[in-house]
Amino acid sequence: MKAALLTEFGKVEVRDVDVPEINEKEVLIEVQACGVCRSDWHLWRGDPSLVMYMEWSGGKLPIIMGHEVVGIVKETGSEVKNVKEGEMVVVPASSSGDSRSCTFCMNGLSNICEHLWIPGFGTDGGYAQYMKVPEGSVSDLVKVPEKLRERKTWLAIAGCGMGTAFNAVVDKAQVKPGEKVLITGVGGVGLSAVAIASNAGAEVIALDVNEEALKRANLLGADKTLRVEKGEDITQKIMDAVGMVDVAIDTTGNPDVGVGALMAVRPGGRMVLSGLMVKGAETLPLPADAVVAREISLKGALMLASQRYITLFGMMLKGDINLDPVIYREISVEEIQNAFNEMSEFRNAGRFVVTEFE
Ligand SMILES: [Zn+2]
Ligand SMILES: [Zn+2]
Repeated sequence: MKAALLTEFGKVEVRDVDVPEINEKEVLIEVQACGVCRSDWHLWRGDPSLVMYMEWSGGKLPIIMGHEVVGIVKETGSEVKNVKEGEMVVVPASSSGDSRSCTFCMNGLSNICEHLWIPGFGTDGGYAQYMKVPEGSVSDLVKVPEKLRERKTWLAIAGCGMGTAFNAVVDKAQVKPGEKVLITGVGGVGLSAVAIASNAGAEVIALDVNEEALKRANLLGADKTLRVEKGEDITQKIMDAVGMVDVAIDTTGNPDVGVGALMAVRPGGRMVLSGLMVKGAETLPLPADAVVAREISLKGALMLASQRYITLFGMMLKGDINLDPVIYREISVEEIQNAFNEMSEFRNAGRFVVTEFE
């Protein structure tokens, strides 16, 4: 099969490799779609947190990347009971690695499992026609409802980007109708967050540097879009446009954006961080006085626990949410290096999704 491997940081090579073999407790899936997430880009660049995670979870170069995976079960080991051949499954990007046996997994938080498995980091991922799901993670595979099978690009991004957005908007920020919700950075996660917050009845404000991304935010239900230039006073821009916000969700991991957004959160408001940081800017200079004086709740959101997909699918099934504007372009495995190059210049508006593997 053809596969896109990260052979050294900054370089993806497409090679012919063997289809993985599975043991009696593993599952082989035929990948239908795999998104190109900003965290893949971070690993591709060699940013510290992702390289650390890869090494901690046993991955090493060369590795087949890709962690926003939806696929069809092709083969199951003889001891696998929870999925069957032919079923469509989402592989949650942050899956239990211990068959849901740690304290976090047992509390419904398999996305922060003690033995977290992320495809394309710990073992080979979804930028290939077939992918093996290791035995500790098989229990976390999520079956796709029949009516959603056609939506393969949406399902791919549900694995990470949209899952993260759902976690941030619904579970962590607990957005209510009528609340003012600021979303900074409208890439895959941010655009999904716009759609989900808007669907929840919030007044959504999207902020980004990319004009095209903001247009997509509008299509997804943003009430106001704010285009910022590098070095601009973000807090002032938000305050001038809408005043203080009830909720801020930062998907950028950019320290200036994060602090700028935090300073616009009202007393008693909430802020959720879901963006990862880049080499050379690895910490957020936290204005702790504002957090204390305003009693702001600060939370992190890492992808989505497998146990929560039933609610996410419920939202998708209701049919009043259209995620097409989150998808920037469908590409082949051959185009992944180009996609990363484009992402380095922040030219893409939304997600690249790999849908061609041969
Ligand atoms: Zn991701
Ligand atoms: Zn666990």
